[in-house]
Amino acid sequence: MKYHYIFGPVPSRRLGISLGIDLVTHKTCSMDCIYCECGKTTELTLDQKEYVPFKEVIRELDHFLEHNPDPDYITFSGSGEPTLNLCLCRVISHIKLKRPHINVAVLTNSTLIQNPSVRQALLKADLVLPSLDAVSKKAFSRINRPHHGIDPKKIAREIESFAKEFKGRIWLEVLILPGINDAPSDLMELKEAIHRINPDRLQINTLDRPGTMAGIKPASKPDLERVAKIFDFPATEIIAKAGRDIKTRAKRDDIRDAVMETIHRRPCTKEDLLKTLGVAEEMLDNCINDLLDEKLITGKSETRGIFFQTVKE
Ligand code: SF4
Repeated sequence: MKYHYIFGPVPSRRLGISLGIDLVTHKTCSMDCIYCECGKTTELTLDQKEYVPFKEVIRELDHFLEHNPDPDYITFSGSGEPTLNLCLCRVISHIKLKRPHINVAVLTNSTLIQNPSVRQALLKADLVLPSLDAVSKKAFSRINRPHHGIDPKKIAREIESFAKEFKGRIWLEVLILPGINDAPSDLMELKEAIHRINPDRLQINTLDRPGTMAGIKPASKPDLERVAKIFDFPATEIIAKAGRDIKTRAKRDDIRDAVMETIHRRPCTKEDLLKTLGVAEEMLDNCINDLLDEKLITGKSETRGIFFQTVKE
């Protein structure tokens, strides 16, 4: 079966073996972050609707679960902001009914967290990974380029309020880009918000794949260590590079589809794909070469290697 809405499983650097579900079409989001690895936001919106058909998502999910080993996590992420989809709550309920032991994670940019239907959905998850890259309006506009009317201070307060009600775990992610959101005053405002939210874990991250704006640079390890020192939060983790030692348990026979599904959401190097898909190197090389010849994918040279991504129409 060819999947359109589920992808992977991928060895997530944060979640182990994680099956992804993409509940929006490329590229629908309430923000247009300059570091976004999914590409430029083409539908910048705060409208909640059924962006992809609920019944199809469930059909693909059930098919995957029947034919593959259970992943550690089922994670809502992908081509944009998953909380924009009105069916998020129903999909999580379905997973919990079918496989209560599989953890459900939701990556969210937190912009809709004050919405009662979003909150109801997130409360059903085991792990929520909200992101908060800036509290000051200037830094927020620079790094996240949000839909108009989104107030970063309000987002920070809403994450704090959600954290008080939520029984699962919260890993708050802050992505740092030098010269964009790391001025001393920006970091002090973030520090205050982080301590008020008091997440189970604070993850400090930086650019790892090509972003949407040319010329932006990742923070160095010493930069991130300096930021961590300023935040002075006990459960802080500086995110390492992609999990290099994780082996995927579910090997995909349909390599071509699997490569396309994976790099459609985020650019990957050959090494990322080898770890993700658990296929022989020669087979992957042939597949990549065919896809390049057919102009279905492109390669872009970055410091970590050549990142392959699908050609977006
Ligand atoms: S990084 Fe997340 S929040 Fe930012 S534009 Fe991409 S999908 Fe949207």
